[in-house]
Amino acid sequence: MVILGAPGSGKGTISSRIVRDFGLKHLSSGDLLRAQILKKTEIGLAAQSYMKSGQLVPDDVMVKLISTELSGLNSSPWLLDGFPRTRPQAEALHNNQKLDLVLSLEVPDDVIVDRIKGRWTHLASGRIYHTEFNPPKVPGKDDVTGEPLVQREDDKPESVRHRLEVYATNTKPLKKFYEDLGILQVFHGTESNEIWPRVHKYMQGHIPAKSGPF
Ligand code: AMP
Repeated sequence: MVILGAPGSGKGTISSRIVRDFGLKHLSSGDLLRAQILKKTEIGLAAQSYMKSGQLVPDDVMVKLISTELSGLNSSPWLLDGFPRTRPQAEALHNNQKLDLVLSLEVPDDVIVDRIKGRWTHLASGRIYHTEFNPPKVPGKDDVTGEPLVQREDDKPESVRHRLEVYATNTKPLKKFYEDLGILQVFHGTESNEIWPRVHKYMQGHIPAKSGPF
């Protein structure tokens, strides 16, 4: 199966719960690419400059990477996260392996912007706080060093909105492709804890659960 969801939609949380309860192998294209870069493979070298500048890695590189990974899994069921990102990638995957399910998590943009804009970072250590969910002991200061916290450029509302627009534009043709195949299932909501029980119930009807009802 494939999971689609904008940055900040809770895709990571839902994916990890699917893996926990249904025993699927989780394949995240971003993680696979980062592993290839660390190993300095041909694919890693080809992907590196695109990733650094925030561009999509070319379709042929991605298709090669993912098909190799999938063929190594034999018959165990898998959950793809971050792939496909373009229609040619979706077509290549479809010609190679038939999907059972495509889940799309739909969280309103305003909710995502609100959630991310509360994030503050201690740059030197990478520690992340949230004004609402995980506030620092002293407002605006890192708990360990007392140094000032900053809001990362890409966590600012304008940047988040831009990322969400890019996501929506890129994902539209993918959703259409899977809708036409009759395998797209959309889940609307504002929080993972609200969306998850519905995803779980839906999946129980399609994939046998590893650990039964939660
Ligand atoms: P992610 O961790 O999913 O945000 O991916 C990090 C980066 O990896 C992206 O910004 C892209 O440069 C690259 N990437 C990941 N998945 C894909 C994909 N399916 N197609 C093209 N580039 C990708």
